[in-house]
Amino acid sequence: MDLSEDKNSPRVFINPKVTPLVEEKQPYEEGCLSVPEVYDSVERPNKVRIEALDENGQKIDEEVEGLLAVCIQHEMDHLNGVIFVDYLSRLKQTRARDKVRKIVKIREKQGEQMADKQPQPSHS
Ligand SMILES: [Zn+2]
Repeated sequence: MDLSEDKNSPRVFINPKVTPLVEEKQPYEEGCLSVPEVYDSVERPNKVRIEALDENGQKIDEEVEGLLAVCIQHEMDHLNGVIFVDYLSRLKQTRARDKVRKIVKIREKQGEQMADKQPQPSHS
């Protein structure tokens, strides 16, 4: 993941193990590339310990909080087949599914239009 402003400092966590360090959960507005244009508040522990290896095989053992802690837990969920929408109410999940379906349709249409504008291969 890369939380740097210039998006040029990716952090790599290999075989991550995440342990919450606080019981209290805090809400944070989350979104996800897998669920385009859906954002909602998810409550997670605000402080976690992450143990992993970095891209050089060096041991990472850090206590992190705030946005980094949220992102680590969000990405960790992905590894376990869970997306943030799974934490929302049934109603919100249904709404999210409808919204994503709509967006996928729009994107497909846009894709077709783009394809129409492409020059057709000519036969010589
Ligand atoms: Zn995600």
